[in-house]
Amino acid sequence: MSRLDALVETLLTLERPLLLALDVDGTLSPIVRDPDLAEIPASTLATLASLADAPMVEVAIVTGRDLGSLSRMEQLEGVWRAVEHGALVLAPGQVPSKRELTGTQRTALSRFRQWVEAHAGDAFIEYKPQAIAVHVRAVAEGDPARAEWLLAEADELAQRLGLHVRRGKALREAEAVVHDKGTALREIFERSSAKSVFFAGDDLTDFPAIDFASAHGAGAFVCSEEQRVAPSSPATLLRSVDEVAVVLSQLLQRMTA
Ligand SMILES: [Mg+2]
Repeated sequence: MSRLDALVETLLTLERPLLLALDVDGTLSPIVRDPDLAEIPASTLATLASLADAPMVEVAIVTGRDLGSLSRMEQLEGVWRAVEHGALVLAPGQVPSKRELTGTQRTALSRFRQWVEAHAGDAFIEYKPQAIAVHVRAVAEGDPARAEWLLAEADELAQRLGLHVRRGKALREAEAVVHDKGTALREIFERSSAKSVFFAGDDLTDFPAIDFASAHGAGAFVCSEEQRVAPSSPATLLRSVDEVAVVLSQLLQRMTA
């Protein structure tokens, strides 16, 4: 039996309701140089919509993107969403309530923003409600040393400002509020009354969620040139975004056969 078939078989044996939770970039959508241009293939969106409709199945999107950036990529109905690496968890149809930062948190983020504007103009910057993310993938293509310098400086400054530092494959993110995808996945698991969970992700920031899923169902790690080191939990290794899509579509076929 192939690796993918074995994973599908495992998922079919998990107790229902089954929560299917998925990272976006590098998992559902191919990594591209400009994150604003990343897209989830239409066939994958259709599969996710059908899975969300299937009885005793819950679908969750778990991403570092904020809600605005995610809504450009998917507007699925009936799915859970954890955005900003889990800072905000929304049930299907739930509208986010207003979140307030303290004065200290606002000041720290605005200092970080000043540094970004003065020194990191060549990086791709994501301004989120409670965080600022510095992406250096495009910089690294032309000047790896410069990319390393940006990551190191952003890391040190965020720490000095008392912000939480999130470290990804080509990312440093300064966050005013501490959280992670593992905690967010646990919250969705509990609120959705799922009995088991599957999660797939491709980055260091996905490891807490992969660990949680491995302990309560099954986890998968999408390996890439950028991230070869897999999590320590017994996750299935997937080799590409296409393999994730195959697993989801086979699962749907088997569940609705
Ligand atoms: Mg990812």
